[in-house]
Amino acid sequence: MDRIQIERLSKSYGAVQILKDIDISVPEGCFVALVGPSGCGKSTLLRTIAGLEPITGGTLRIDGQIVNDVPPRKRDVAMVFQSYALYPHMNIEKNMSYSLRLRRAAPQAIRASIDGVARTLGLEPLLARMPRQLSGGQRQRVAMGRAIVRNPKVFLFDEPLSNLDAALRVHMRTEIRKLHQRLGATSVYVTHDQIEAMTMADHVVVLRAGQVEQQGAPLTLYHRPANRFVAGFIGSPAMNFVEAVIGADGCSARFGGADGANTQTLDLGRTLPVGAQVWIGLRPEHLRLHRDAHGMRGAIDTVESTGSMNFIAVKLDGVAAPVMVAQSTVCSLHSGEAMSLEIASEHIHVFDMKTERAL
Ligand code: ADP
Ligand code: MG
Repeated sequence: MDRIQIERLSKSYGAVQILKDIDISVPEGCFVALVGPSGCGKSTLLRTIAGLEPITGGTLRIDGQIVNDVPPRKRDVAMVFQSYALYPHMNIEKNMSYSLRLRRAAPQAIRASIDGVARTLGLEPLLARMPRQLSGGQRQRVAMGRAIVRNPKVFLFDEPLSNLDAALRVHMRTEIRKLHQRLGATSVYVTHDQIEAMTMADHVVVLRAGQVEQQGAPLTLYHRPANRFVAGFIGSPAMNFVEAVIGADGCSARFGGADGANTQTLDLGRTLPVGAQVWIGLRPEHLRLHRDAHGMRGAIDTVESTGSMNFIAVKLDGVAAPVMVAQSTVCSLHSGEAMSLEIASEHIHVFDMKTERAL
């Protein structure tokens, strides 16, 4: 059954429409990520699910029941924010038990619940401390613990890891994922970080300017992006786009040659409308560099190495912007050196130039 069902949801502030025709179904136990650039409406959508923002149109169901007008405290959802929002004057145990005490739960039941959650999150040694005596990662864990003790139907996370340093963020990513596997609680997780979304979620919803661009399993979005926006947003480093025209044979793309020379041809391995103006999408990790002539002609522009990975910008003949190549093999490459670039045709993405939809 769907724990959360969002149908044609819209939300405006005055005349400004922030969310438009959103359709999302979240099965029970599913971990959904809402991802998109800053300002696209992720937090607003999460807040409508929590009941903190009224919606202007559509329906929102939790466990099949329409909750459009149900106040937040009756929706049985728990929210974890980026700013942990712990009560500074209460110790960790009091912070975690606050909602249970409000509900007038029995002291033994509160005790058992706090002990269980503290054990799960490794918070036992910290229960007597005050929030200011904890590190950022520990505070974030307390904020999650506080949500877990409530045993809600749905967990809502709004960029909970943004305030942590890079290493801790990666660690907490794994912890939250493991916790999800253990508790099996339905979760909606907002992030602007596509890697976080891809690695943590069962289902990823890509938002842009208040609309759903595409949703699906992480690898579906990676392998079969529906449009140029999703293709460029998912994946790191980002997909390269090269302007091209479908050739007379219908199964190759012509690109380059803005200067009347240096036109190149790329076999697409499939047939598309002759003469169509397109964007060719090439992921950096799918491009292979060769010293001998082996595909698209170009020359090395710049090389950056992180030790494990090399990021090589290649200037293709007749194309203005360099394309990025990512490969792990070490090689000594020099700026200006002639090279060729090869890609397997199943890895070539093609987007209509006008509609930006995948062809
Ligand atoms: P995100 O979380 O994806 O960064 P938000 O949901 O916070 O984006 O905001 C989406 C848009 O809604 C932004 O353009 C923002 O300026 C606008 N917005 C958010 N809250 C309000 C509000 N209370 N009144 C008017 N506009 C708002
Ligand atoms: Mg936000």
